[in-house]
Amino acid sequence: LTSKLPDVGTTIFSVMSALAQEHNAINLSQGFPNFPPDAQLIDRVSYYMREGYNQYAPMPGWPALRQALADKAALAYGQPVDWAEEVTITAGATQAIYCAIAATVRPGDEVILFEPAYDSYRPAVEVNGGIPVIYELRAPDYRVDWGMVESLITSATRMIIINTPHNPTGSTLKREDMLALQALTDGTDVLVLSDEVYEHLIYDGAAHQSALRFPGLRSRSFVTFSFGKTFHATGWKVGYCIAPPQLMAEFRKVHQYNTFSVHTPTQCALADYLRDPKHYEQLPAFYQAKRDLLLEQLEPSRFDALPCEGTYFCNFSYKSISKEPDTAFALRLIKEYGVAAIPVSAFYSSGKDEQVIRLCFAKTEGTLRAAAAALCRV
Ligand code: PMP
Ligand code: GLN
Repeated sequence: LTSKLPDVGTTIFSVMSALAQEHNAINLSQGFPNFPPDAQLIDRVSYYMREGYNQYAPMPGWPALRQALADKAALAYGQPVDWAEEVTITAGATQAIYCAIAATVRPGDEVILFEPAYDSYRPAVEVNGGIPVIYELRAPDYRVDWGMVESLITSATRMIIINTPHNPTGSTLKREDMLALQALTDGTDVLVLSDEVYEHLIYDGAAHQSALRFPGLRSRSFVTFSFGKTFHATGWKVGYCIAPPQLMAEFRKVHQYNTFSVHTPTQCALADYLRDPKHYEQLPAFYQAKRDLLLEQLEPSRFDALPCEGTYFCNFSYKSISKEPDTAFALRLIKEYGVAAIPVSAFYSSGKDEQVIRLCFAKTEGTLRAAAAALCRV
């Protein structure tokens, strides 16, 4: 068999989490909270299970959940969303990303990706015959030069994938960035995939600049979200996509045969839970306190923090500690100091190594303090 994805190995998340377990290290590598979702939400899921909501949901998702999400997005981003035609519930954002790409990218189409990038984008493009066109962002602030992006657009460009707030760097796209992207794509048939799974994890009073806010982007974008991030339940694998009807119709052709529908009682429970905005409005303050605790605890260390405007990741340069490649350094951190981190070179196809590691701060105060104490000894 000739592999369709010869370069794909085991994801760095599985590799580092396994190593963390093997060495009994504190795991700040793979991004997931080490605290539970709200008990009220869990109760709601089991309530719906007991009440008999255990069979297939409609293919696009549970109607009450899609209605709640359409209302929430319209309120937050100022543009109407049609729950019936424009919202589909998926098996995590990962499946939404895959469906958007598989539904629209044809063999030979070019897809512009910004690296470091979340690691599912590139294989999803390649397995569908698309050609990734990589724009490498650089530490410390990972800003996009939209003039450079313009120079990458050709007649073969089918899609541009953006991610804000951005995993792994913690940077965010600003209003000016979104306006620049809107101007760049105006009058073209380039699509946008805007991965916004960290929409609520944005700090220092900044407003999330969703593609849904900008009419010229809204009309060409698949926008993806994840309850894993928003409600501390990454293992539930429930997410969703919002896109205009014409794009969503194509998306659903893939979704229908890729999974058909996702966990019914969880969708019912989420529909109820979302009706109280407090359940997500408190997230920026909740996670900002964790970010600030980690930064404060690492202040005396020899690690240099890079800016963190959003997500639950903070990146650190270790240039003043070691010249080792980041993977070797991360391995040594696990073995000698008992802390697992992600080497950021894993998010560059080229393996570009700027000697930066990513730490996940979706952890209890005790875990963050213990990890920081170990890292202060490095
Ligand atoms: N996009 C980004 C940027 C992510 O960080 C993640 C989760 N790590 C996903 C998509 C996938 O989300 P889910 O777990 O809901 O599939
Ligand atoms: N999104 C998570 C991260 O960036 C991990 C996702 C996964 O394990 N596939 O760490």
